[in-house]
Amino acid sequence: MVKNSKYTYLDELERSQQLDRINAMGDEERRTRNGQRPRRDAEGFEADADRERRMRERRRDIERKEREERRKKKVKTIRIILVVALIAIVGAVIFFARGIFGKGSGPTPEQPPVSFITPEPTVSSTAPVVEGTPTPTPEPEAPTMTPTPTPEPVLAWWEYYSEEPIPEGDIVQVNSQIYSYEQMCRDLNFLRQRYPDKLQVYRIGKTADDRELLDCVIGSENATKDVIIQYSMHAREYINTPLAMRQIEEFLKNWDTPTYNGKTCGSLVNNVRLHLIPMANPDGIAISQGGFEAIRNEEMRAKLNDIWQYDQQNGYGSADYETYYKRWKANGRGVDLNRNFDQNWETTGGRSWYSSSGYAGESAASENETKAIVRLANAINCIGEVAYHSMGSIVYWDYGTTGDLHAKDEKLANVVADLTGYALNSTIDTGQNSSGCSDYFILERGVPAITIETGKETCPVPIEQWPDIWERNRYIVPALAELFGGF
Ligand SMILES: [Zn+2]
Repeated sequence: MVKNSKYTYLDELERSQQLDRINAMGDEERRTRNGQRPRRDAEGFEADADRERRMRERRRDIERKEREERRKKKVKTIRIILVVALIAIVGAVIFFARGIFGKGSGPTPEQPPVSFITPEPTVSSTAPVVEGTPTPTPEPEAPTMTPTPTPEPVLAWWEYYSEEPIPEGDIVQVNSQIYSYEQMCRDLNFLRQRYPDKLQVYRIGKTADDRELLDCVIGSENATKDVIIQYSMHAREYINTPLAMRQIEEFLKNWDTPTYNGKTCGSLVNNVRLHLIPMANPDGIAISQGGFEAIRNEEMRAKLNDIWQYDQQNGYGSADYETYYKRWKANGRGVDLNRNFDQNWETTGGRSWYSSSGYAGESAASENETKAIVRLANAINCIGEVAYHSMGSIVYWDYGTTGDLHAKDEKLANVVADLTGYALNSTIDTGQNSSGCSDYFILERGVPAITIETGKETCPVPIEQWPDIWERNRYIVPALAELFGGF
């Protein structure tokens, strides 16, 4: 029974489906299927012709509509492309207009306006500064010690006007303890004239007392790596400025002479560009070399007198004015630049107010000198930093890093220690301050950095120590070029 009823059901289903199919057929098909010839009388032909015409018209109609659709689609696409192109053009125009009219509002304010490869000479450069000539006040320092609003920093081609002929023989002469900012500018100008295609000098910023922060660049246009070597960030350690200058001259002199590991200096900078900043703190150095009178800005001088009073009241520095200013470490505003970098700045110790040394500033990188170095580092592909300080005849390294960075830093420290004979010192083990320049480079920027301390016993370092300092450090620059070129 069960089987039967199922068959009955299937038969019924099949029948109904068959019926549906037949109903769905056209007359002609049904006739053919039933074995009849289609009727072909005059009426039939006319009806067929009529139907065909209607079909053709409908096909044409459909084709027309399709063409119309395609056309509309095309127009729509073109319109979208035009709108996108228009937006891009307007965007580009705004971008370039900002670049030209508002440097600060550009999308990359950290980028220098000129590249190191094709320097653009600027007309607005300063002539050598004549001692004692007051310059227009850039921005008076309020007695409340609010940090000076930084003038828009510029990385620009350095120009120096002088009629003086280039001296014969070596340009950089180190025969007295004091080697001034003015001497440095004069010598750099001579070096530029003697080696115009090998040495480029850039202004990377300006101090509060209107001295230029200079970056001396040596290396191939095609080099992809940059290294910063900075000197005399602490005022009284200015012995390192003539060291930088002699290192620069020696390197240029030996451009084609096998000098280090049998290599010519020129060949050592194919792959790396060296940025030597011979005087990272010219205002402070002016104080250490000449007292507060060397600061031309009256407001700054007044503030320096406040700082002197403050230091005296707190027992900071010598009570003897001459000894006090000679041992000045800070910049011209009383900020210790080597505590002003943005690396654990908040927790760095030291004095709580402007002082001859040890005051970290009102905020990290508050000082023009600090900003200039950070800006330079941002503008180049900085893969390492070396800081020259005095004194102690030691090399500080080991900032608590690990892995590859630690290994590279160790290699760097070893090369310098081997050449100079200075002892290696771990900054961690000796409990050095944070927020220094080298701390910043290795811990914040992640590139190997060390601090070399030249000289011994006292600061400013006496001229008697110069020959020893020179002998120990004369090959440091080619050594750094070789090392970083291989990193
Ligand atoms: Zn120092």
